[in-house]
Amino acid sequence: MKSKIGVYICQCGSNISDYVDVEAVKDIVKEFEGVDFAKVTMFACADSTQKEIVSDIESQGLDGIVIASCSPKLHLLTFRNAAERAGLNPYNYVQVNIREQCSWPHSDNPKKATDKAVQLIKAGIERVKRSEELSPIGIESLNSVLVVGAGIAGMRAAIELGNMGTKVYLIEKEHFIGGRVPQWNKLFTSDEPSNKVIEKLYAQIINHSNIELYTGAEMTSKNGSVGNFTVDIQVKSSGVNKETVDASRFDQLINSCKIEVPEEFNFGLTKRKAIYKNQKGQYPEGLVIDFENCTKCGDCQKGVDFVTLEDKTETLNLKVGALLLATGSDPYTP
Ligand code: SF4
Ligand code: SF4
Repeated sequence: MKSKIGVYICQCGSNISDYVDVEAVKDIVKEFEGVDFAKVTMFACADSTQKEIVSDIESQGLDGIVIASCSPKLHLLTFRNAAERAGLNPYNYVQVNIREQCSWPHSDNPKKATDKAVQLIKAGIERVKRSEELSPIGIESLNSVLVVGAGIAGMRAAIELGNMGTKVYLIEKEHFIGGRVPQWNKLFTSDEPSNKVIEKLYAQIINHSNIELYTGAEMTSKNGSVGNFTVDIQVKSSGVNKETVDASRFDQLINSCKIEVPEEFNFGLTKRKAIYKNQKGQYPEGLVIDFENCTKCGDCQKGVDFVTLEDKTETLNLKVGALLLATGSDPYTP
C-alpha cells in the first residue's frame, strides 16, 4: 500500500474553484490516511506546476500522486509523463476529474460540488494506494483488423486504418451499408445531406486497396488473443447475381412479389417486399432477397437470369490482429 501520496487540487483558473471550495477540499483530503500533503494549484498542467510536481516527488520521496483536475482524456499522459520524469512509475498516478464530473455539472450547487469533489478524490487516493508498478509490454500483431459493422463509425474506422497501411476486413450483417445515418435527413451542423456523407465514404471504401468489404456477413466464431485472432465470417447470399444484374428491371421484379413485410428502414411504418432494393444513402445499390420471408414462388425470376434464389452461405476464415466492434445502436424511447 502506498503511504506517501501527494494530492494536487487544480483550480483550472476558476473553472473548478468558482464552484468547488478547493481550500476546504485540501484541508479535508490532507488528513486522509496515506496522504503526505495536499496542495491547491492554479493550473496543474502548466509547465511550472509540472516542474513542481516532479520536484515534490523527488524531494519528498512520494510513492504515489493524485491530481484532481479535468478529464483524464485531456491530461492523463501529461501527468504520467511528469511522474515518469521524476522516477515514479506512471501507473502510481491517478487523475480525478473534478471539472467535467463535478464543478461544471454541479455549478448550481457549490456545497454539493465540494462534497462530491472530496469523495472523488478520496476514491482516487484509495486507488493510488493500491496501484502497482506496471511496465508497458509489446505484443507482435498481425497488421490486419476486422471491423464489425459498416455504419458511419465502422466505415470511418476502416478508412482510417486502411490509410495507415493496415489491411481491413469490413463486415456488415445487412446487405447494405450505411447504418443509421441514411435514415436521417441532414447532419447538424454542416447541413450536409446524410446520404451524401455515406456516398463519399462508400466511394473511398470500395476504391481502397487495403479494405475488403463483405455485406450480409456476420462473425460466427473467434479464437486467439490480442495481435493474433482467427475469425470465421459467414457471408449470406443476396439471391441476386451482382455481375449480371439489370437495374432497369428492379421495380418490375419488386412489384411482382406478393410478400410484404414491415420496412425496417422506416421503423416498420411502411412495408417492403421480400425482394427489395437499397434505400437512398444505402450502399451498394442493388436488389436483395429477404430469405426469411421469401416463399421462393419464383415470380421475381420470370424473364430475368440474375435472380438466383440461392439461399446459401459462404464461410471465410480470416486472421487479424485486432477486432473493432462498431455495431451501432438502436433508437431508444424512454
Ligand atoms: S490540468 Fe486540466 S483542470 Fe487543471 S488547469 Fe489544466 S486543463 Fe484546467
Ligand atoms: S421468390 Fe420470393 S422474393 Fe421472389 S417473388 Fe416470390 S416471394 Fe417474392
